[in-house]
Amino acid sequence: MKTAYGRVRRAIAAVATGRAAIVVDDSEDQGYLVFAADAATAQLLTFTVRHTSGYVRIALPGADCERLDLPPVCHRDGESVGIAAQRVTVDFRETGTGISAIDRARTIAALADADTTATDFRRPGHVIPVQAGQHGVLGRSAGAAEAAVDLARLGMRRPAGVLCEIVSQRNPTGMADRPELVSFAGRHGLPLVSVAELATYRRRTEPQVVRSAETTLPTDSGAFTVVGYRDPREGSEHLAVIAGNAGADAPMPLHIHLECLGGDVFGSLACACGAELAHAVAAMRARGTGMIIYLRPPTARACGLLSGATTSDLLSETVAWILRDLGVYTVRLSDDAPELGLLMFGAIREHGLHVESAATVWPVAG
Ligand SMILES: [Zn+2]
Repeated sequence: MKTAYGRVRRAIAAVATGRAAIVVDDSEDQGYLVFAADAATAQLLTFTVRHTSGYVRIALPGADCERLDLPPVCHRDGESVGIAAQRVTVDFRETGTGISAIDRARTIAALADADTTATDFRRPGHVIPVQAGQHGVLGRSAGAAEAAVDLARLGMRRPAGVLCEIVSQRNPTGMADRPELVSFAGRHGLPLVSVAELATYRRRTEPQVVRSAETTLPTDSGAFTVVGYRDPREGSEHLAVIAGNAGADAPMPLHIHLECLGGDVFGSLACACGAELAHAVAAMRARGTGMIIYLRPPTARACGLLSGATTSDLLSETVAWILRDLGVYTVRLSDDAPELGLLMFGAIREHGLHVESAATVWPVAG
């Protein structure tokens, strides 16, 4: 993971200083030359056109597509996200024919300029704007366009990125595969990063939950502190139910529970969820300290009935950010749901949180 971090940081640094990086979209097995649009120069465009398909796109946030009056080229329903995201082509009005490297560089820089308006561009033209998804690489169907905007933004430049597919040198009728991309990167001194690595980096470095409520919950097991969290992208809501002082130095006993309507609400015996939750609540009451993080995936989950749709990767990031927000840096995972704890163990530790093993925690009094 450390090397992946290094790759992401090198890519951000390159884009920040107006140089190019290579972004690999693993879902397409394709590599893109990417750089910040506000750094576009004739030299960068010449390099791009020489080594890529030449189908140069600029990824822009939706607000800029609106401001510059760049409507979708295709309005039909049911088209793939990529086709729907493509906007009408343009040339900057102060360019010549618009196709040369110097003209395309000027058009791209003008598209990235916050002060240009719709009338500064001729339509159709030779630069293809595409709308990047609102949440960048953390959104659904994220690809190289979202990575290009994210790299520019993380590099403290205008959130607009140029992207173009890298062509194979060995077989110029096709696209460069992964080994060729690696050697291309080495030959030209370009950092190489994947969309997935960038997404992992953002999940680790940007808070993934927002604290939305805090209250005391009176229950027949006693009063617990409850803190509510919202995932700003998915809209799903999670709870931290706490007994004792969450910020204390001692390791906080932690039970991670994934919502199960059947087990939690109706006491289903078809799965262990209900019994595990009841045991965790009883143990927390007996000890007078502890925490249950109650995760609610964006779609309802009930064992054997409704699957829920979030992967344990994403949920473990959610857990880690909730713990960080609460100032809990040392936890002891309960062994009530060992598989869930083990799945999340690695991600939680990568946040610098200390996780103790669980064999003897949660003794229920009596
Ligand atoms: Zn269940």
